[in-house]
Amino acid sequence: MNYISTRDKSEKCSGAEAIVRGLAPDGGLYVPESLPRLSKEDFINLAKEDYPTRAARVLSLLLSDYSFDELLDYTNKAYSRFYGDDPCPLVNIDEGVYVLELWHGPTCAFKDMALTMLPHLLGAARKKVGEKDKTLIMVATSGDTGKAALEGFKDVDGTNIIVFYPSKGVSDMQKLQMKTQTGENVCVCAIEGNFDDTQNAVKNIFADKAINEEIRACGFKLSSANSINWGRLAPQIAYYISSYCDLIESGKIEYGDKVNFCVPSGNFGNILAAYYAMLMGVGVNRLICASNVNHVLTDFFKTGVYDINREFHKTISPSMDILISSNLERLLFEVSGRDDKLTAERMKALKTAGKYSVSEKELAALKALFSVGYADDEETKDTIAFAMEEYGYLMDTHTAVAYDVYCDYADETGDRTPTVVVSTANAYKFPADVYEAVSGTRIDDAFEATQKLNEETGEEIPEPLSGLKERPVRFEEVIDRSEIAKKVVDYCKQAANK
Ligand SMILES: *Cc1c(COP(=O)(O)O)cnc(C)c1O
Repeated sequence: MNYISTRDKSEKCSGAEAIVRGLAPDGGLYVPESLPRLSKEDFINLAKEDYPTRAARVLSLLLSDYSFDELLDYTNKAYSRFYGDDPCPLVNIDEGVYVLELWHGPTCAFKDMALTMLPHLLGAARKKVGEKDKTLIMVATSGDTGKAALEGFKDVDGTNIIVFYPSKGVSDMQKLQMKTQTGENVCVCAIEGNFDDTQNAVKNIFADKAINEEIRACGFKLSSANSINWGRLAPQIAYYISSYCDLIESGKIEYGDKVNFCVPSGNFGNILAAYYAMLMGVGVNRLICASNVNHVLTDFFKTGVYDINREFHKTISPSMDILISSNLERLLFEVSGRDDKLTAERMKALKTAGKYSVSEKELAALKALFSVGYADDEETKDTIAFAMEEYGYLMDTHTAVAYDVYCDYADETGDRTPTVVVSTANAYKFPADVYEAVSGTRIDDAFEATQKLNEETGEEIPEPLSGLKERPVRFEEVIDRSEIAKKVVDYCKQAANK
């Protein structure tokens, strides 16, 4: 199967090439030329398999230049790094309400689902396309991607990784996870500013020919581990299909029944994977896109206008503090009837005016599938407290945003369709806010809050977080965003001489 760019459909390549490049040369995002569809029999058979096998089968449909056996080897390796016997358990918390826990991986956030796979997919892709240069993975992170990418790529042959995060835009726990990162091929650096500043600066480096040449001269080629890379999205589609299989297998639904997915969204990658899973055959009633007070997506789905000219807010769900949801470009491409010129124009308008709009017809199509809502920090905390009291279920701040939006949706619509609320992080990644929510007391120190939260709830602290305090800090640098390019080139020179 071939991949095409959202900004120029004539730009075609294989799955392996799409993964090696990350971004199409025209700046667009790669999407499959057509989406494969699973039959009823496929779903029934998949439902009997374990997660690595399900994921390998889904991926082999999407990446035809990889063999099933090869993919199964990767999924087995990736998901054996997860805790417990199911990498993504579906927990039934209330009648018809399920929480899909995507945070049992090495960094306790949903990014692990894809970022434990990407190094395998990318490593194989480099061989398939005959790549000789080493790969420099460059990541802008709002917190969770950076750490998950570092864990995924550390000490992987032929690859180095450099991660930039906004100095004031991530939680203490997230920061410490990155500053203490191990591995010989890793570099971590904080940027003055917020996530959008960081992401824009990194995007500009990808697009800058002169800097790319300097990097090439050191023997490296840039690639991305951000969720714009198809190698990130594809493994995410698998868990939506898998959760649908779990519901079939447990007799909660029959094949063909529709479910809702409610997803805490930022860059729009996670919920977009649900959309693709639907196109591949999962029965979907509504996709519910949940935001925090940076509700640019809520407004877009309500009005058809995407407008980033607004105040940026720091919230207790920092991984969703985003105004530019890069993956929305892929949905725009689909909803415009795969109009590449129009998509390119809109992305240009976003860059120059910070704004674009879709037609009435497109908006109606979006509204027919997507529901939206947002929660502020108070509502988020109230929801954490409510879920703990009512169901004895401890959720993190991002999951609570989604659950709050779902509760509002269910109240307003009366819709009782079985709903999967997607849980994107373990509560101990945000211990101060979660502890405050359940106890009413604020403790700023992350480790103390962790201890208290454990005493209060009895909920187990995952090992990757409990061991953090003892780990030495390796990366403390904070730079201005104007210095990112120099930092990248300097790092390449230094890495080339090793
Ligand atoms: C990245 C992240 C999100 C947002 O996911 P997108 O794919 O960017 O929409 C939500 N919650 C957590 C905990 C995350 O790490």
